[in-house]
Amino acid sequence: MIIGVPKEIKNHERRVGMTPATAHAYASAGHEVVVETAAGAAIGYRDADYEAAGARIGRDAAEVWGAAEMIVKVKEPLPEEYGYFRSGLLLYAYLHLAAEPGLTQALAESGVTAVAYETIQLDSGALPLLSPMSEVAGRMAVQIGASYLEGHHGGKGLLLGGVPGVAPARVTIVGGGIVGVNAARIALGMGAEVSILDINPERLRQLDDRFHGRVRTLMSDAHTLAGAVREADLLIGAVLVPGARAPRLVSEAMVRAMSPGSVIVDVAIDQGGSIATIDRITTHDDPIYIKHDVVHYAVANIPGAVARTSTQALANCTTAYGLRLAGGPLREAALADRALARGINVLGGRIVCQAVAEAHGYPH
Ligand code: NAD
Repeated sequence: MIIGVPKEIKNHERRVGMTPATAHAYASAGHEVVVETAAGAAIGYRDADYEAAGARIGRDAAEVWGAAEMIVKVKEPLPEEYGYFRSGLLLYAYLHLAAEPGLTQALAESGVTAVAYETIQLDSGALPLLSPMSEVAGRMAVQIGASYLEGHHGGKGLLLGGVPGVAPARVTIVGGGIVGVNAARIALGMGAEVSILDINPERLRQLDDRFHGRVRTLMSDAHTLAGAVREADLLIGAVLVPGARAPRLVSEAMVRAMSPGSVIVDVAIDQGGSIATIDRITTHDDPIYIKHDVVHYAVANIPGAVARTSTQALANCTTAYGLRLAGGPLREAALADRALARGINVLGGRIVCQAVAEAHGYPH
């Protein structure tokens, strides 16, 4: 199959659909990989690296989209790219179609078959192509928080790990899922005192076990949460209620009770945010604001800051499914792998993902 990898055109998107290593995996499986020139340039992947891995370089987006039978990219296509859609084309990317009526219509009308990374789901409910970005965001949240605790960034002038004779900073993480566990791991590694709150007792047990009792695990009720927020130097919001807006767990009064120069990193902002004083998404260009003397960070695409790591982490997870998609008829791939079948959102013009169909009033 001819597989195209266009350069991402969304503002500030530096990730790319394949690394040279994963391009090599597709090429070794007998596919012809066409990568748009400079697609990976922003993160240090040169055209020559892709060529050495067995790919061919396409001179522009039109050539790549035009040649390809399957497109592998990171973000949903933008309106400038809808003109490349055509019947029979297979699109494999993050799509978030429930929030994208225009793209859904363009895909349905053109007859493209679209497989969305974010709806590929294991029988356990896990989302294997979202997890790598949660891992990155969780680890980054601590790195970011540590930096904003420095005085010249608005923080109280605190070193996360302390030094001999000086107590470490206290990190409170609300939500002990993938983001939470990765944040805890880095915070512990930097020497901080770490508390994690969750509402799932089984999860708290797993966390206690995993960190050998070195993190404080707390049931996330309003009273306990208020205490853990009050004492936090760095508060990380990491909750998720699948399919719903993030619950606003941390009230304005709780934020007011934090000591001046403390820092909040609300990773859950992409689902609406979990902190009452965070009412807007911030950007990598202008990431923070200060309210009640507390630094607020609310960037919705944290992994974008480390696009090279994020590209590798994502491609590591997309490639196995991508090879299955490219390897034969879609029907066979879907029958052989239920997780992959759940990823199919649009099939030859029909919306086959129930959530997307319901969101836009299509028959399902
Ligand atoms: P996850 O499902 O692995 O974990 C969520 C955890 O929250 C679960 O353990 C759940 O029990 C817990 N939880 C639910 N309600 C709670 C409550 N009331 N109090 C305490 N804990 C509660 O999800 P995840 O992959 O860790 O993602 C967490 C959030 O981070 C999501 O909103 C996700 O969209 C977001 N995210 C943001 C970025 C970004 O760049 N900002 C990147 C990746 C993920």
